Amino acid sequence: MRKKIVAANWKMNLTLAQGEQLINDILAAGIRLAEGQEVVISTPFPYLVKAKSLLKNYPGFYVGAQNCYSEKSGAYTGEVSAEMLQSIGVDYVILGHSERREYFQESNEMLAKKVDQALAFGLKPIFCCGEPLAIRQAETQNAYVAKQLEESLYYLTEEQLKQVVIAYEPIWAIGTGLTASAAQAQDMHAFIRSQIAAKYGREAALCMSILYGGSAKPGNAEELFACPDVDGGLIGGASLVATDFAAIVSKL
Ligand code: 13P
Repeated sequence: MRKKIVAANWKMNLTLAQGEQLINDILAAGIRLAEGQEVVISTPFPYLVKAKSLLKNYPGFYVGAQNCYSEKSGAYTGEVSAEMLQSIGVDYVILGHSERREYFQESNEMLAKKVDQALAFGLKPIFCCGEPLAIRQAETQNAYVAKQLEESLYYLTEEQLKQVVIAYEPIWAIGTGLTASAAQAQDMHAFIRSQIAAKYGREAALCMSILYGGSAKPGNAEELFACPDVDGGLIGGASLVATDFAAIVSKL
């Protein structure tokens, strides 16, 4: 019913030659995707055209950007619009990653505009949410994530929401080697789904793919993906190693 997705987030890593090699190695790993399963490779902007052409004959493999701008076009030096990404065949765009929220001051309000732009140009947002360590320690993570969703997504129509994928990435688990336990991931994913159900109804909630991100690796992917509300992963470090990434995909 809902898609199972493993998405790579390369972040600001690799040269073009290294990225090309990585994609070729992933494709050579013999990944077999079942019906309803997808792989998304999110590269830096300069490699998207190349990634798209390398993946074009591989059903189930899609290309993602890691950001887009909140306005349609104009005098925004250095920015990349959703329309530009659409024009080169990009399928997905990661929005609201915690690194962008932290280092580039992306607010929930700005992210709502980015989601709008992405949807206006046929891109599927992978909308990231997740709490910092202090919030987790104070056990207020549900309210924190609920606010992120409310302020960036809940103006969407149900039809628009169906184009969105949510990625729950607890900040304390990103790049730290600390993974949320399967129980912690399941609890939050079930909470997110209940929030979507409360706002958009049960059917919309059941259709929503909710990915887990934060130190996911071959050794923990199986347990995470076995959780009923975990529909795959958004993978950072382990997506830079073809064998690790392919092993994670095989656990879908
Ligand atoms: P790591 O898998 O390196 O912890 O990164 C997770 C992430 O931020 C994916 O977007």
